[in-house]
Amino acid sequence: MSYFDESLSREIILDHYQNPRGKTIPQGYKTVTLKNVSCGDIVSVGALCDQEIIKDIRHEGTGCSICCASASMMCELLKDKSYSQALEIAQEFSKMMTRQEYDCEILGDACALEGINKLLPRIKCATLAWSAAKELLTGEQKADG
Ligand code: ZN
Repeated sequence: MSYFDESLSREIILDHYQNPRGKTIPQGYKTVTLKNVSCGDIVSVGALCDQEIIKDIRHEGTGCSICCASASMMCELLKDKSYSQALEIAQEFSKMMTRQEYDCEILGDACALEGINKLLPRIKCATLAWSAAKELLTGEQKADG
């Protein structure tokens, strides 16, 4: 029950990879950086928040096409959302990646990554930016000093 067929999914992923949304993080954004050692992906996600609303969310770093495309899709999806809405969307994404039933309406372009849930080594590529965003929003990251 894929939302997009395979060739459309590939096109959407490629488009986000080549024209990333929300690329580069301006100074002053609260940022979390995560690494996926097995693939060599490094992703930073930065957000500008006000009253638990994500005014802006951006990403930077280096990674494979799956990792970069996923970060781009995520920034597009989470911008202007409240923390609780954003965490709900992240939850749907994580359901998709763990092959549970999920709501494709909520995930938009990110549904193109559904096929990745069958490629075990690549799942972490797809979820890396989302994990960073979750850390940002829930404040789980350890403050330096
Ligand atoms: Zn990767």
